[in-house]
Amino acid sequence: MTKFAQVGDFCPDETCPDYGKRQSDPQHNVIKYGKTQTGRQRYKCNTCQGTFTETRGTIFYRRHTPEQDIIGTLALIAEGNRISSLVRTTGHKEDTIIAWIREAAGHAAAIEEVLLAEYQLTRGQIDGLWAYVGNKGEKKAIPRQMKGGSSGGPR
Ligand SMILES: [Zn+2]
Repeated sequence: MTKFAQVGDFCPDETCPDYGKRQSDPQHNVIKYGKTQTGRQRYKCNTCQGTFTETRGTIFYRRHTPEQDIIGTLALIAEGNRISSLVRTTGHKEDTIIAWIREAAGHAAAIEEVLLAEYQLTRGQIDGLWAYVGNKGEKKAIPRQMKGGSSGGPR
């Protein structure tokens, strides 16, 4: 039986020799490595020297489809492919694909980071993706002073 691994428990880089290896007694390639600007835990893999944040590898962790497939499908939609044609070519249900977009929209900043880095997409194309679920929020990331502080709400 496998339990879900937590981020920081393994290296999410598929090209890394220690990719996906859970941290345990002899296996200690992943270390905590400061925080991002938005306060997310950052990790570093000492095997491949790669750094990653707690969102990478877990955005869709409850889904049965590999994250790479999901993000690839999202990229195709952003490129202008119709969901109905992707249903035919990928074999995923339309409801499933919409659910992915909805879930992705909840992590828009992280998804955009991956799409911009790994696919030849423009920001405008990615915005087109969010239009499917009417998501306007979480653009631009880097929320300012989201937690704590003495500010009295939005201006
Ligand atoms: Zn690694």
